[in-house]
Amino acid sequence: MDAENPNHEALDAAARVPSEQDLDTLSRQLNRPVRDVVEIGARCVCGNPLVATTAPRLSSGIPFPTTYYLTHPVITSAVSRLEAAGLMIEMNAELGEDADLARAYELAHQHYLAVRDAIGERSGTGPVPEIAGISAGGMPTRVKCLHVLVGHSLAAGPGINPLGDRALEGIGEWWTKDKCYCTGAWDTEGPAPSQDRSRHVKTQSVDPAIKQAERAAARAAREAAAATESETGK
Ligand SMILES: [Zn+2]
Repeated sequence: MDAENPNHEALDAAARVPSEQDLDTLSRQLNRPVRDVVEIGARCVCGNPLVATTAPRLSSGIPFPTTYYLTHPVITSAVSRLEAAGLMIEMNAELGEDADLARAYELAHQHYLAVRDAIGERSGTGPVPEIAGISAGGMPTRVKCLHVLVGHSLAAGPGINPLGDRALEGIGEWWTKDKCYCTGAWDTEGPAPSQDRSRHVKTQSVDPAIKQAERAAARAAREAAAATESETGK
């Protein structure tokens, strides 16, 4: 890790600012309207978003531990292939045996939390005590979602998340950071999935992924509260 800049982020402040076009592209990549995206975490060489950055508290008030969301369909499907091939099982076994790897992964967890705090500050969310110490993807001791780790690696730059970096190497056959794989990767015709439409048909348009994320956030908040209670001996 860069000792001069322990909270390293791949994009500089100007490049992180999402344009209207970025938000439109994210909605097309995910085929749903994006919500609560405050920054772009990583970009293709062509400039298109690869990773959406969500504030640690949603506008609905729900704490949201998963800061980085992989949006590029070529990368997400490539990472799914690694998961299906059992890479997470290998990584979990290795975390149990390799103390250096476990330590580096713990540092990745710390980086994730520090940058999330910074993002909370930049986006006006401020501290979110409900999810203090809780990162994502299984960090700091397990691997539960490679998409989360790859999103973190892309947003942090190489050398921060050892297992995210390794997963990125693992998808080299399908995606590498030096090339654009955007053409044909999502529908660019017609209107993007829009916020307006989601409001009008609210009952059916709540994406299962969002619901799942919100449930995960609520669970994380409950676990954090329970941990705090046990620490304070209540
Ligand atoms: Zn591109």
